[in-house]
Amino acid sequence: MALRRLPAFRPQPRRGRTSARVAGIPPTVFSRMSALAASTGAVNLGQGFPDTEGPSTIVEQAVEALRSGHNQYAPGLGTADLRRAIADHQWAQYGITVDPETEVVVTTGATEAIAGALLGLVDPGDEVIALEPFYDSYAAMTAFAGGVLRGVTLRAPDFRLDADALRAAVTKRTKLLLINTPHNPTGTVLDREELEAIARVAVDNDLIVVTDEVYEHLVYSGHEHVPLATLPGMAERTLTLSSVGKSFSLTGWKVGWATGPAELVAAVLGAKQWLSFTSGSPLQPAVAWALAHEQAWPASLARDLEARRDLLCDGLDALGLPARRPEGTYFAVTDISALGWRDGLEFCLALPERAGVVAIPLQGFYADGSRDGEQLVRWAFCKETAVLEEGLRRLGAAELTR
Ligand SMILES: *Cc1c(COP(=O)(O)O)cnc(C)c1O
Repeated sequence: MALRRLPAFRPQPRRGRTSARVAGIPPTVFSRMSALAASTGAVNLGQGFPDTEGPSTIVEQAVEALRSGHNQYAPGLGTADLRRAIADHQWAQYGITVDPETEVVVTTGATEAIAGALLGLVDPGDEVIALEPFYDSYAAMTAFAGGVLRGVTLRAPDFRLDADALRAAVTKRTKLLLINTPHNPTGTVLDREELEAIARVAVDNDLIVVTDEVYEHLVYSGHEHVPLATLPGMAERTLTLSSVGKSFSLTGWKVGWATGPAELVAAVLGAKQWLSFTSGSPLQPAVAWALAHEQAWPASLARDLEARRDLLCDGLDALGLPARRPEGTYFAVTDISALGWRDGLEFCLALPERAGVVAIPLQGFYADGSRDGEQLVRWAFCKETAVLEEGLRRLGAAELTR
């Protein structure tokens, strides 16, 4: 099988003039898998971007802003209107009060909010605890900051929080907990009991909590997103991150934000002013408008995604790839050992040729040295129904057993 001769995807020590900081981090698996999808004509159920556009009303607001002179630097904190809209959103959705002058900062996507939080809060040698498998920028940015990432694993098949493992992971060097709920890639939405356990660990050890809530609105029937900042004792230690991308199917806009105590927001701003300083000036008025005028849209997206989740999960179940039904996000995770595979990367590299489909292996989304997740593969269902059906049809027609 030709694809098995491809070099394994491992951190390759890159030579030449690249810094050790960058050379130590492998390129993101998403670019590699999307390139594979493009070069083989495979159905891309890998990278998590929707294949339908966000609301045209919001796009029109951006066009209007481009035409009416919002084309110079926005303030480093973000435009006053957008900061106000973010503060109003936190209040209307969750009863959280934040001061738009000092407790909100607009960033280049949640990605820059993550970068700003880690660069602004973590000193060399500090430990960061994240839920594994984790979004890959957490590891890269913790390393850039000189920190040490410790994983607490959400284990298959149900991917729940092990509160004892979280408490045991805390050391004298722990600076912050980096939480993500709804959780990419497992689809877990942390419930109140799990959030209370996190809050107890944070309060008992006087830790900062950075919580990535970009899927806050993409939660399915029977589940509820509860922001960590709403729990007792948490508002004063929690930095909450989100963005327009996932909620409004505008992932290419890269307008995100961090909200929380002024001291933590100032730390993010302190780092981000030297990264982008500011970005998306003509998009910021449109995002402010979306938060104020299209509040119902993310909920209708969630209902629509729930049907696509069921289509994908039912289809994978029927193919002998049982999927835990995700409670939120764009993603379902399957264990491929049922088909005789031990290595998710090997499976995902073989899949375009065998079936004409691309998926993402979860290995690599764990702290160094962990073999957890070797047999787990992530499938994105934020795709049009016809695309999901075609992907399932191709998988059904292929030989998937190793
Ligand atoms: C997509 C995603 C992000 C990045 O958000 P942007 O606004 O596109 O930068 C951050 N965290 C998680 C968990 C994500 O899935």
